[in-house]
Amino acid sequence: MTDVVLVTGGASGIGAAVARRFARDGARVVIADLDEAGGAALAEETGGVFVRTDVTREEDNRAAVEAAIAAFGGLDVVHLNAGAGGGGGVGADFDLERYRRVLAVIVDGTMFGMNAALPVLASAGGGAIVVTSSLAGVAPAPLDPVYSAAKHAVTALVRSLAPAWAESGVTINAVCPGFVDTPMIAQVRSRIVEFGLAVTDPAEVAEAVVSIVAGGGTGEAWLVQAGQTPVPAEFL
Ligand code: NAD
Repeated sequence: MTDVVLVTGGASGIGAAVARRFARDGARVVIADLDEAGGAALAEETGGVFVRTDVTREEDNRAAVEAAIAAFGGLDVVHLNAGAGGGGGVGADFDLERYRRVLAVIVDGTMFGMNAALPVLASAGGGAIVVTSSLAGVAPAPLDPVYSAAKHAVTALVRSLAPAWAESGVTINAVCPGFVDTPMIAQVRSRIVEFGLAVTDPAEVAEAVVSIVAGGGTGEAWLVQAGQTPVPAEFL
């Protein structure tokens, strides 16, 4: 059984489903998010704790790891999941603030999370990190190119870091969902469905995260699509 699970962006959507799924199996969950009301409510529901965290701040990531250890005496699984879309395009669509925001939440947030968690997991004898990348992190996404670039960056980080940390007993993998039914896609959900594209339930992504952790492999990017068994991204 997994004992202590830290989930960034855990107050909503995929992160909340992952927190609930691990809690159902008896894990103690730490929800790290900007959203204080949602995070605190989910912590109460799951018997976990909430830590107000902005993943774009390096020190917040370290504080979240420290809070997990202070609350529950250890850390086994870290789900680096916080994300943001809408990075804009080029030319008339270029928006420096939106561009920097998406890169900060996804790339800085994942890198800072790795930096905070990896040495702690390794020195405790091992653990698992799962990053929420995206289908857009292994294939182009013309409607949000900055988001796709940021997600490709974190997929590359997972694949590049995994080998060196394997001997410390830490596995590092990415989960790469297609569209998932969360507030992030609320405004475009009807168009996605109109195009005939599948929308995955967050609980299905949570199930994939649990099986990725249980599987014990490392350095893999797992595609998760509605109703399908997760497959490594090289099958794309
Ligand atoms: P969501 O909007 O439901 O949840 C995102 C959570 O991240 C929110 O609770 C938000 O408060 C938190 N967050 C945002 N910025 C943060 C920051 N700086 N620090 C801490 N927390 C922050 O969306 P979701 O769909 O559950 O997204 C979770 C992850 O899944 C993201 O990385 C997203 O890119 C990825 N993803 C989503 C989809 C989709 O279709 N919904 C598909 C593939 C990947």
